[in-house]
Amino acid sequence: MKNRTLLMIPGPIEFEPAVLSAMGAPTTGHLAASFIEAFGQALERMRQMFLCPDGQPFVIAGSGTLAMDSAGANLVEPGDSALVVNTGYFSGRFGALLERYGAQVTQIRAVPGGCPSLNEVEQALAADPYKLVIVTHVDTSTGVLADVAGVARLARQYGALCVVDGVCSVAGEELRMTEWGVDVALTASQKAIGVPPGLALLVAGPRALEVFRARKTPVGNYYADWNNWLPVMQAYEARKPAYFATPPVNLIFALNVSLGLILAEGVEARFARHARLSRACKAGLAALGLGQVPLSPKLAANTMSAPRFPSGVNGPDFLAWAAAAGVTLAGGLHPAIRAEYFRIGHMGAVSQGDILATVGAVEAALASCDYNFTPGEGVAAVMKALEA
Ligand code: PMP
Repeated sequence: MKNRTLLMIPGPIEFEPAVLSAMGAPTTGHLAASFIEAFGQALERMRQMFLCPDGQPFVIAGSGTLAMDSAGANLVEPGDSALVVNTGYFSGRFGALLERYGAQVTQIRAVPGGCPSLNEVEQALAADPYKLVIVTHVDTSTGVLADVAGVARLARQYGALCVVDGVCSVAGEELRMTEWGVDVALTASQKAIGVPPGLALLVAGPRALEVFRARKTPVGNYYADWNNWLPVMQAYEARKPAYFATPPVNLIFALNVSLGLILAEGVEARFARHARLSRACKAGLAALGLGQVPLSPKLAANTMSAPRFPSGVNGPDFLAWAAAAGVTLAGGLHPAIRAEYFRIGHMGAVSQGDILATVGAVEAALASCDYNFTPGEGVAAVMKALEA
């Protein structure tokens, strides 16, 4: 017996055995030749994963919030204006963080499950000048997928930098930094990039670096200051040792292994796998009569699902029954609708077997909650979608 559940929350996720084994390997010094090679290779591979051949990758010990903090600290100077395309809890966090660095933040909001339209974004950009436009690619609190290509195009048109919180998207959702004109994309290791929690990952495009270099005031965050990290990233990529703060050696070895697996699968194939498995999961949930938080299928992420509880089903009981059936799922997060829905992460190493197991556990939990449905219909819909 495995004596553990399948972890299907929107991060941390299930990791590849090769990645976990890199985590458990004897730790080298941060100036060891093998580490310098792995770090250098990981930085090169990040560029490929983010589809940003001329970008500058940063790999820093911390979580996704540090990656957001690093973008904010390095790009904002007091008095700058920023526009946040708000699709939920994590967009709100980005706005609050930018204010901490002295930005004047305007948030365009939508109802939970909705996304501000490109029209609304354009109206805001036409009305006032902005230095930054922030968009959360997938807001993990709602499962809403934003139109990053559309927002980035408008940002470029109106002379603003486009910063993408890709914590719940990079290496799962289609994201093309250079082609779409995204200036900064950031993520955290524990999501679709497939490494245990502990790395803040960011790629800055040339325009973002130009804006950073033109700063008139010092960066208001010592640890996150790109002036401290740029020489380190450049040195490792040139296969030379460097030091600013001790890198998380095992996590970076693991990142390099995971990026190797990702590129071996192929970025396009990876996007397609996430889309296919997401469709299958959502088909299974729909067959059981469960609605979704995103207001339309077009607004629904491929890396996760946010199904609504049917009336009469108690959230904490449901989640406990799902765990008893072998699958750990997450509860709601958006404060306005927290008790009304749950969340399933299906990203990274996720397989079709995982989707079948998850929808099976959802069925078992619904049955334990006395929900009236035809057992097997969800799993059958998943199988049908997978055959299509
Ligand atoms: N942005 C999004 C979209 C997220 O999903 C998360 C984490 N769930 C964060 C930011 C913050 O990342 P972390 O918890 O790693 O700090």
